[in-house]
Amino acid sequence: MQITIEHLTHTYMAGGPFEKKALDDVSLTVPNGQFLAIIGHTGSGKSTLIQHLNGLLKPTEGKITIGETDITEKNVKLKQIRSQVGLVFQYPEYQLFEETVFRDIAFGPKNMGLSEQEVKERVHEALHVVGLSEAMLEKSPFELSGGQKRRVAIACVLAMRPNVLILDEPTAGLDPMGRDEILFQIHSLFKRYNMTVILVSHSMEDVARFAKRIVVMDNGKIALDGTPAQVFRNVAYLEQIGLSVPQITKVMRA
Ligand code: ADP
Repeated sequence: MQITIEHLTHTYMAGGPFEKKALDDVSLTVPNGQFLAIIGHTGSGKSTLIQHLNGLLKPTEGKITIGETDITEKNVKLKQIRSQVGLVFQYPEYQLFEETVFRDIAFGPKNMGLSEQEVKERVHEALHVVGLSEAMLEKSPFELSGGQKRRVAIACVLAMRPNVLILDEPTAGLDPMGRDEILFQIHSLFKRYNMTVILVSHSMEDVARFAKRIVVMDNGKIALDGTPAQVFRNVAYLEQIGLSVPQITKVMRA
């Protein structure tokens, strides 16, 4: 599904003394099946931007279209949007709350009103896709390692079979091995299902390896938009806005 963002502005606490324009006239089109990374320093507006894509936040100004649907319209069915656009939050493992992994992954599909049989199938499929074994299903999510919890949290979203998968800092807090595993898993998902993937990160290293396109946010605006090679050419600018260029680029330049 194509995502079209037109002149999106979002102001928190508008009119008050703490008013903050977190997004300022952002326009962006993400074609179906693209692997896009959004990077930027903390506070640049990344989370605010992606929370608009499944209707969690409403624009102060601007319009967002997902597929054929204008999701900023008043009567839009948010439940339907949320099953199409899956959002995996930062530290998603804090959203695991059921007694077993099975019940956590089943929660979304059940909510969609699917039959018991279909719910079961989706749970098994999602578990398989994130590379966890069936033996996990009856475990409590709290018994799992950090990386396993994160996979379960991603499976919870995948079980709804979204067309668009958005992940906010999916590797935050994981050790390097856990980080690589999650990133490879996301990339193989992307290739296998031809999903649109939006990966939010502040790590250039992470995004450089997988994304075909990188959007750099700074202070609520899109500062750069291009292929990794195009974006990384702007070393001085990136460093100026607090982003470090991947080691490999530094080596090549040297
Ligand atoms: P990022 O995801 O890039 O770290 P955010 O979208 O979280 O950036 O934040 C953008 C700006 O909006 C920051 O200045 C942040 O302090 C502010 N902000 C974020 N959420 C809120 C909120 N709920 N209320 C007020 N200000 C907020």
